[in-house]
Amino acid sequence: MPAPLLEIRGLTRHYGALRALDGVDLDVPEAMVCGFIGPNGAGKTTAIRILAGLIRPTRGAAHLGGLDLLGDRVHAARGLRTLVEVPAFYPALTGAENLSLFARLARAPRAEVLGLLEALGLSHAAHRPVAGYSLGMRQRLGIAQALVGRPRLVVLDEPMNGLDPAAIRLVRDLVARVRSEQGVAFLISSHLLHDIETLCDTVAILHRGLLVEQGRITDLLAASAPGWRFATRDDAAALRALAQHKVPGHPRRDPGGGLLLDGDEAVLPPLFQALLEAGLPPKALEPRKPSLERHFLERTEGVMG
Ligand code: ATP
Repeated sequence: MPAPLLEIRGLTRHYGALRALDGVDLDVPEAMVCGFIGPNGAGKTTAIRILAGLIRPTRGAAHLGGLDLLGDRVHAARGLRTLVEVPAFYPALTGAENLSLFARLARAPRAEVLGLLEALGLSHAAHRPVAGYSLGMRQRLGIAQALVGRPRLVVLDEPMNGLDPAAIRLVRDLVARVRSEQGVAFLISSHLLHDIETLCDTVAILHRGLLVEQGRITDLLAASAPGWRFATRDDAAALRALAQHKVPGHPRRDPGGGLLLDGDEAVLPPLFQALLEAGLPPKALEPRKPSLERHFLERTEGVMG
């Protein structure tokens, strides 16, 4: 196995007694799109701010292409771009002028600037001063800026924030294209798990400063346990009946309404028997499809804040 492009080891950051990050190991291979997810306060932005050089870790290491990102940033961060929050631009200059300035520093051709503006739906505003850009337009310009000059790794903190659905699709398409055509790797934090599921090859799940899981999304979903969702006219009574009959599959309430049961078709006969005996026939019984959202909620105990 070749060494990953980005290799983070034991990354730790304390704020007083609070461990925002607690010994996180994380890999981003070459030309892969890695989703970085976790409940509010899990530590995603803290990790990204460390990668961006905005704060120092309490301890730990990060290497990019084998170079020490924390000790020798000048050399190691050459192929790295990070977008944390909406970047600052020269307000009196147009979008195209702002990007062209940046492209000159990155030694990128002007054609690349225009191509990125077009890919992000900003062609119509390219020659307007940035002072008049909406938040979503600035966010798109920030993403364009992060891609100028063909970096090796682009780290984006919640890039879909403030974007309308059409812009979200443009960003998704652009990331997929840049990755496949130019071999750029991405680490992307987001709460939009459907976008992460469609866009990313791998995902890292952070929870309370700890990395709880990292792997290929297809593998995580394949390993996801099968299960069922259903309702009855009295779910509390149904739960009591299932407990009385010792129905396997850990019957429980679904936070979204109704009841849940783990297991494949083998759990259905005892389920039906218990419910029918209790006079509570199941309604709307359906298999629970594996999804990143479901996997995420299970791995983070449904903690949303
Ligand atoms: P969100 O999804 O809400 O953006 P996150 O996963 O990005 O969350 P962080 O912003 O990294 O989480 O925060 C991790 C923890 O560190 C939180 O408990 C947060 O309150 C704390 N924290 C972050 N920055 C500071 C700071 N400057 N001072 C004190 N605590 C901080």
